[in-house]
Amino acid sequence: MKKLNPAKPSGTHKTRLPELEDEVVVKFLKILENIRSEEMSCEEMYSHLDEFVEREVRLHDASKVMPLIREHLDLCPECCDEYDALLNVLEKASN
Ligand SMILES: [Zn+2]
Repeated sequence: MKKLNPAKPSGTHKTRLPELEDEVVVKFLKILENIRSEEMSCEEMYSHLDEFVEREVRLHDASKVMPLIREHLDLCPECCDEYDALLNVLEKASN
């Protein structure tokens, strides 16, 4: 039962929108989330890549600890190549 039309303005200020508020907050949080992940630049990624790969090799929880890096790697093939290369080097070094 969605009410698409908010209450008609009855000549006063819109002070009663209790149902809408939660929705707005959730949308706002989602927008923030998107901005955050899109804002990670390749440069920024590189500055954490060593750490990320090292953690992945040693503890296998890098994706959990640094989800934004993981996300960027999924979205950016160039960084993903870089990650693979570094991962190879570290894995060989740790054997
Ligand atoms: Zn990138």
